[in-house]
Amino acid sequence: MAREYNIARASSVCRACGKELTAGAEYVAALFDEGVSFRRDDFCQACWEQTPHEAAFSTWQGKVPPVEQVKKTFVDDEVLIDFFQRLADQAEQAKVNFRFVLALMLMRKKLLIYDASHADEAGLDIWTMHLRGDLTPLAVVHPELDEQQIAEVTSQLGSILERP
Ligand SMILES: [Zn+2]
Repeated sequence: MAREYNIARASSVCRACGKELTAGAEYVAALFDEGVSFRRDDFCQACWEQTPHEAAFSTWQGKVPPVEQVKKTFVDDEVLIDFFQRLADQAEQAKVNFRFVLALMLMRKKLLIYDASHADEAGLDIWTMHLRGDLTPLAVVHPELDEQQIAEVTSQLGSILERP
């Protein structure tokens, strides 16, 4: 299993103009697909609207919290669910791992419910799940990660999905 990932860390400056994103600043966070993984860039609102940039895999808007509230927290549940959904068609191992660990996080939050599992033709363990309030069946590949691998993937997700 490929375990060497290279994820650029989230920065707290605008990628385009270099302006520091300070408390109260509106920003757009964008994840760019780099094949085996994702790069996260944050932009100030003005630059996001004015600067030409490659198509992002996933984006969300946020506001930098006041300094006293700054602690490393994940983005909103809707962003997590959106990223989880966008990863559905990705076959890259790192992305399969991301999707599975996101599924675990969403299960813990009771936003995603496990229904059943089966082996597909390739022998992969496939979990059938659904979102709370939406019975559409979702297939999630269960990549058989051990505790340490799950912790690693969680910290990689943290580096791209945490608030700035
Ligand atoms: Zn800017």
